[in-house]
Amino acid sequence: MKSSEIREKFLKFFESKGHTIVRSSPLVPGNDPTMLLTNSGMVQFKDVFLGLDTRPYSRATSVQRCVRAGGKHNDLENVGYTARHHTFFEMLGNFSFGDYFKRDAIAYAWELLTKVYMLPAEKLTVTVYQEDDEAYDIWANEIGVPRERIIRIGDNKGARYASDNFWQMADTGPCGPCTEIFYDHGAEIYGGPPGSPEEDGDRFIEIWNLVFMQFNRDEAGNMTKLPKPCVDTGMGMERLAAVLQHVHSNYEIDLFQNLIKAAARETGVEDLESKSLRVIADHIRAAAFLIVDGIIPSSEGHGYVLRRIIRRALRHGHKLGQTKPFFYKLAADLNTEMGSAYPELTEKLAYVQQVLKTEEERFGETLENGMKILEAQLAKDAKNLDGATAFTLYDTYGFPLDLTADICRERGVTLDEAGFAEAMENQKKTARAAGKFKMAANVEYSGAKTNFVGYEQLTFDSTVIALYSNG
Ligand code: ATP
Ligand code: MG
Ligand code: MG
Ligand code: MG
Repeated sequence: MKSSEIREKFLKFFESKGHTIVRSSPLVPGNDPTMLLTNSGMVQFKDVFLGLDTRPYSRATSVQRCVRAGGKHNDLENVGYTARHHTFFEMLGNFSFGDYFKRDAIAYAWELLTKVYMLPAEKLTVTVYQEDDEAYDIWANEIGVPRERIIRIGDNKGARYASDNFWQMADTGPCGPCTEIFYDHGAEIYGGPPGSPEEDGDRFIEIWNLVFMQFNRDEAGNMTKLPKPCVDTGMGMERLAAVLQHVHSNYEIDLFQNLIKAAARETGVEDLESKSLRVIADHIRAAAFLIVDGIIPSSEGHGYVLRRIIRRALRHGHKLGQTKPFFYKLAADLNTEMGSAYPELTEKLAYVQQVLKTEEERFGETLENGMKILEAQLAKDAKNLDGATAFTLYDTYGFPLDLTADICRERGVTLDEAGFAEAMENQKKTARAAGKFKMAANVEYSGAKTNFVGYEQLTFDSTVIALYSNG
């Protein structure tokens, strides 16, 4: 089943259950300064859950574009290492605003998976929040899931691969206990059921999370009840596609295979299993959609998320031997795959290519030189990378820290992040001292200024902003 059919079946099913189909909102949340990028389908409905906004419907369904490359849900470091994580992905969701609750949410999900997508029930395992007897009973007695495949899970805050059955949008905002549905990809794959010590593997893959939104968490961490209990669900389209296309990894679905082939074409690589090709295929989606949604590479905020993603992809291209701009060319391939679902991508394709190409040209030369510095340092010490070198790479060669960390991880090198932070702090102190000195004496500014301009130039922002902000 192709992506387009998967999306359509989802929306049609929930429409038949009285849900209004709502378009994906942009990746930059419209009215939420606490959230950098949309990380789930519920973000555009946050105020409805909180009772601050109303809609002409109490049931909605959507296919939401999401990015998880920072903040509470950050999967940047997982890309290339797991079969199931992307920086950009599409979330299929259904929502109830004070309308139905646990019973219907669970029944709809089960019906859709087993009667519409025709997944074999015996391959599905579910988890419930440890204290949620109500959800447990619905699964066991009303749906008829055998008890050995219903697992109680608590809130494993912060554990990277541990299941967590208390969902939070972010540190503040709507949250609540959840129940999740996992698909067993088979005993030949490493991994164990959720809650087991082997759950870090990729055998049991979480496909759908049904959140029973009941609380709002404030900045002090206090939880207050929402005006009405709500439902917020999210299913990863790519993970469902993997199941329906009888492949294990998300990177084996049609859409990703075509992007991987395109990345192979541009880098001259033959091994389609290459981790770097997967990273590049993932990152072109995130980068292109962030640009479509109005973001340009810069040194802070949204723009820095975008820059980190692009530069990381370029470094993987460099690793594959491609030292010329290539990444921007993949935008056209992405458009072939996703343009019909997202006409805004087709409309802005030329602009997306231009922004990507500019960033590639900017980073190309410093990437090459930075890699030489890095290699020279690693030739001296192959096990540790000191903070000062990581900072030089960041400050002078435009290497975001996560890019350097990605190289270190590949090579089993320990990165001194504390040393990096220290070097950064010293730099700021020097800059502040220089500023004060100027105000006090109004002389001797040139030295400090040279320094400061160097810093700015290497983050490349002003020019890029000037290039694009006027249209
Ligand atoms: P995981 O435990 O695998 O990291 P999650 O529990 O963080 O997933 P949720 O926040 O519950 O994910 O999001 C709802 C659904 O969105 C998941 O069940 C999954 O299908 C999908 N999803 C989450 N993160 C990603 C990602 N990085 N890439 C692709 N799909 C994702
Ligand atoms: Mg996660
Ligand atoms: Mg999970
Ligand atoms: Mg989850």
